[in-house]
Order: sequence, then C-alpha cells, then structure tokens
Amino acid sequence: MVKPKVAIFDLTDCEGCEVEIVNSRFIDRILESFEFVHFRLGQKTNKWENFDVAFIEGSVITSHEVDLVKKIRENSKLVVALGSCACFGGIAALNNFTDVNEGKRYVYGKEGEKIEVIEVKPLGDIIKVDVMIRGCPIVRDDFDRVVSDLLAGKVPKEHTRPVCMDCKSKGNPCLMLKGTPCAGPVTYGGCGAPCPSSSMPCDGCRGPLEVPEMSAELELLKKMASPDDIVRLFRKYTSAAPAFKSAGGGK
Ligand code: SF4
Ligand code: SF4
Ligand code: SF4
Repeated sequence: MVKPKVAIFDLTDCEGCEVEIVNSRFIDRILESFEFVHFRLGQKTNKWENFDVAFIEGSVITSHEVDLVKKIRENSKLVVALGSCACFGGIAALNNFTDVNEGKRYVYGKEGEKIEVIEVKPLGDIIKVDVMIRGCPIVRDDFDRVVSDLLAGKVPKEHTRPVCMDCKSKGNPCLMLKGTPCAGPVTYGGCGAPCPSSSMPCDGCRGPLEVPEMSAELELLKKMASPDDIVRLFRKYTSAAPAFKSAGGGK
C-alpha cells in the first residue's frame, strides 16, 4: 500500500505542538501509516516532494516564512495549521501591539534593528488552511482525531463547543461567579478545561468560537475587570484572531 506523504514544518515557535505529536497515543500507528517526507524535528533526512498532508506549526513573522508557507501550500493537497501560533499568530502576535524595534534593540543591541519582523497574522490570512488544530500546545486527542479522519480518507471537521461545556462536564464551580474573569464562554473547547479545573481562568489559548458571543461576554467581564485587564485576558495566545484582537476596546 502506498503511504500518504506527510510533512511537518515549524516556523517561529517553541515546538511544543510537535512534542505533543510525538507523545500521541497512536504514534506507532502514525509512523507505520504515513511516510514522513519532511519532519525537521523528528528525523535527519528531509526532502521536498508533493505532500498529501502538510502540518505547519508556528507563527509567520518574516517574509522568508511567508514565502515558505506559500511554497508548502503549492506542494500540498491538505494544509493543517498546528497550534495557536499557526492558527492565530500565537504569542508572537503580541509584537503587533508593541514597539518591536525597541524590543529588538533591548535583546540584540543595535544589530537587532537589522532583524526583520512583519505584522503577525493567522496562517489562514496568508494561505488557504484546510484544518486547524488549536491550542497552546495542541491537545493530543485533537491530533489523534484528525489523523484518524485522514487515515479514513475524510477531511477532519471541527466541533463547536465552548470551554464552558468542558468545564461544566468536570463539575467545576464557575470562576466568574466568584468574580474571576474567564474567557471560557467565547473560547473554542475540546481541551477538557484544564485551566478552570485548576482554579485558573481560561485565557483563550484555543481561540474564539466561530460565532463568539463577545458582547455578552464583555458585559459580564466589565463587572469584574478593568478595561486593561479585559484586553490582557484576550491578548495572550490568540491576539491575531479578529474577535479577540479588539476585545475590550483594544486597538
Ligand atoms: S502553539 Fe504554543 S506550544 Fe505550539 S508551537 Fe506555538 S507556542 Fe509552542
Ligand atoms: S470557569 Fe470559565 S470555563 Fe468554567 S464555566 Fe465558568 S466561565 Fe466557563
Ligand atoms: S482552558 Fe482555555 S487556556 Fe486552558 S487549555 Fe483550554 S482553551 Fe486553553
């Protein structure tokens, strides 16, 4: 049987999502079922071919990375955005709201001014993305579900439940009732709500629901948080997602 050709590329990121792939419960089956043509983190020899599926992890922050993702798209039947860096710009998208040049000088001195950094956008704003696997990092179950669908010849579909549903199914008391701001009602679930289950608010790492009820969420948040705190709540992992970018009046 001809194995589907798979590539995993990483851009500007921490590679935590790729580590979750290696931790997959089905890693043996995955290694048997696919031919990994390009996987820089996982193997020594990599090559460019036409890929059946290309996973792209990381944020696009240079014009070189823009060219790279366009080349990947041209060579791939299916492109999967892997993790919140790829899906929504990730932590690197915070660059969009700061003086990046000051940061570059602080870290690298005067030489830093030569380092190119462009506006950080979701991968889907640059190339067509077929499937998103959200989270910082991704949840292994999501990856396994996507891989199972791919092996069955199906294009994976996303579910649409908010983090609150995961949270309630765990029997957690709601943090918002005690005055703690939480992004769970407007954030895409499926993570199992590990943050509110540890008494920490959800800060939206899986990005907004397709139709997030932002106005209702913001009305609630205004009762317990300052405008700056509301902006900060939505500006951690997914600030290039349109619904979270402007939440709380942020520009
Ligand atoms: S989404 Fe998070 S875990 Fe994944 S590569 Fe980006 S920063 Fe790392
Ligand atoms: S704690 Fe957060 S995620 Fe849990 S039910 Fe309340 S708002 Fe939703
Ligand atoms: S609860 Fe929120 S911040 Fe925590 S993993 Fe889930 S989506 Fe991410």
